[in-house]
Amino acid sequence: MSPSSTEGCEDCLRIGSTWVHLRECLICGHVGCCDSSPNRHASAHAHAESGHDLARSFEPGEEWAWCYADELLLMPA
Ligand SMILES: [Zn+2]
Ligand SMILES: [Zn+2]
Repeated sequence: MSPSSTEGCEDCLRIGSTWVHLRECLICGHVGCCDSSPNRHASAHAHAESGHDLARSFEPGEEWAWCYADELLLMPA
């Protein structure tokens, strides 16, 4: 699975659903949809995969990351 070939939330694409924004897992590169999306795949991935607590925004121009374990927003310095 290559992150560079991702065109959207891979889980939504599989079930034919849609998303609002995308998040990329910093551990494995999984791309999932944000908590504003109907299916919340990024959050589901973070909880399903042990240790995959960090995800960054996959949106152009957004550089923040989110820690699911601490529920902490990480901004670039
Ligand atoms: Zn999704
Ligand atoms: Zn992951």
